[in-house]
Amino acid sequence: MTVLIAGAGIGGLALGLSLHQAQIPFRIFEAVSDLRPLGVGINLQPHAVRELFELGLETGLDRIGLRTREVGYFSAQGDEIWREPRGLLAGYNWPQYSIHRGELQMLLLRALVERAGSEAVQFSSAVTAWQDTGDGVRIALQDRASRTDTGMAQGSLLVAADGINSTIRARLYPDEGPAHWGGTMMWRGITRGPRFLSGRTMAMAGTRARKFVCYPIADLEDGGSLINWIADLEMPKGHDWLKQDWNRPGQRADFAPQFADWHFDWLDIPAVIEAAEGIWEFPMVDRNPLGQWSFGRVTLLGDAAHAMYPIGSNGASQAIIDARVLTQLLHERGAGPEALAAYDAARREAVNAVVLANRGDGPDRILDIVAERAPGGFDDIDAVMPLAERQAFADGYKKTAGMDVQALNSRASLVRIGA
Ligand SMILES: Cc1cc2nc3c(=O)[nH]c(=O)nc-3n(C[C@H](O)[C@H](O)[C@H](O)COP(=O)(O)OP(=O)(O)OC[C@H]3O[C@@H](n4cnc5c(N)ncnc54)[C@H](O)[C@@H]3O)c2cc1C
Repeated sequence: MTVLIAGAGIGGLALGLSLHQAQIPFRIFEAVSDLRPLGVGINLQPHAVRELFELGLETGLDRIGLRTREVGYFSAQGDEIWREPRGLLAGYNWPQYSIHRGELQMLLLRALVERAGSEAVQFSSAVTAWQDTGDGVRIALQDRASRTDTGMAQGSLLVAADGINSTIRARLYPDEGPAHWGGTMMWRGITRGPRFLSGRTMAMAGTRARKFVCYPIADLEDGGSLINWIADLEMPKGHDWLKQDWNRPGQRADFAPQFADWHFDWLDIPAVIEAAEGIWEFPMVDRNPLGQWSFGRVTLLGDAAHAMYPIGSNGASQAIIDARVLTQLLHERGAGPEALAAYDAARREAVNAVVLANRGDGPDRILDIVAERAPGGFDDIDAVMPLAERQAFADGYKKTAGMDVQALNSRASLVRIGA
C-alpha cells in the first residue's frame, strides 16, 4: 500500500512526515537533483503550525523562524489602519511563524530523512506520466537535466504535490494552460535593517495597486532584523509576465521609484529597498479553482491543487493542512480511491474559497476601502472606518481560511493515529 508522492516541496514533505507518523508506506519523487534553501520569507499560520508541532517540529521551527506577534495594516502615507495580535498573543494555542521558505523545506527534509531514511526521497526523478493498473498505479520517471527516462515505480496511489506548474494537473486538465495572472508583479527581497514596530510585526502598506509588505524573519546580532519584503505593483495591460521563475533576479529601477517617498515613522521603505541583499521578481499568479482533485487513484495536493496569491499567508499553510487531512483519511479508509474521494470532498471547496478570497485581495482589501474613502490620508481612522468594520474584515478572512481562534483551539487533531 505504498503512496507515491510527486514533489518534495512543503506539501510533499509534510505528507511524507505525516504518512511516516501514521506508519503508511510512501515514496517521494522530486524533479530537482538536490534541494537548496530557495525562496524568501513566508508566514505559517497557527492552523498549520499546530500540525507541524504535532509532527514534533516545534524546536526546529523556533531555530529557523520568528514567532509573529502582530499584523498591521497601514495607508500609503504610513498611517495605521488596523493592528491585531497574532499567534499565542491572539489566543491561539499555537504561534504564527515568519520563516524562510527554503529553510522550512530543509527542516522538513532533514526530519524526514532522520525518521524514514534517505531513500524516502528520490531526486532527479520527475513524474511524467502514470497508469492505473486496476489495483494500483505505475508512474514513469525522468531525469529532467539529461532528459532521460529513468524507469518506473509502482504503488497504490499517486499524490501530485508538484507545485503551481504541476505536470500531473496539466495531464488531468490538458486545456488549462499557464497559471492565471491578475496583473500584479512582485519584487521580493531580503534586507538587514532595523527592528520595526514590535520587532515581530508583519506590516502591509498602500493599496492593491502599490503595496509594500514586510516582516522580520530573523534577529540580527547587531540588534536589527533580517527583513523579508515584497513590493507589489499593478502593471499596465500587455505587460509580459510569462517568465515564471522563483529565482529570477529583479531590478530596483523597475519598482523602487514608486515607493520613493514612503519614509514612514515606523520604517524607511526606500532605505530598506536600497539596502537589499537580493531582489527577485515574480508575477502574482494563481490557478482557477477546480471542480475535482481526485481521479481514481490520483489526487492533487498543495499548489498543484490550489495555487493562490500570496495574500493572507496561506499557500504553504493550506498545503500542510491538505497533507494532514489526507493522511487521516488514508489511515481510516486504506490507500485507495475511497480515501482520495473523501479528501477531495473534505478539502476542495474549503480551499477554493481561500483562492477566490485571495484573488479579491483577501484581508488586504481593507487597504483599498480606506484609500477609496480617504485618498489623501486621514487623521482619525475611526472616522474613515469604524472599529467594528475593521474587526469584521479580519474575522471574516480567518473563518474562510480555517483560522478562527475558537474553532481551531477546540477541534480535535487532524491526524488521530490510534484514536
Ligand atoms: C524554488 C521555490 C521557491 C519558492 N519561493 C517562494 C517564496 O519566496 N514565497 C512564497 O510565497 N512561495 C514560494 N514558493 C511556493 C511555496 O513553496 C508554495 O506556494 C507552498 O509552499 C505550497 O507548496 P507545494 O509543496 O504545493 O509546492 P512547492 O513548494 O512549489 O513544491 C513543489 C515541488 O515539486 C517539484 N516538482 C515539480 N514538478 C515535478 C514533477 N513532475 N515530479 C516531481 N517533482 C516535481 C518541485 O521541484 C518542487 O520541489 C516557492 C516554491 C519553490 C519550488
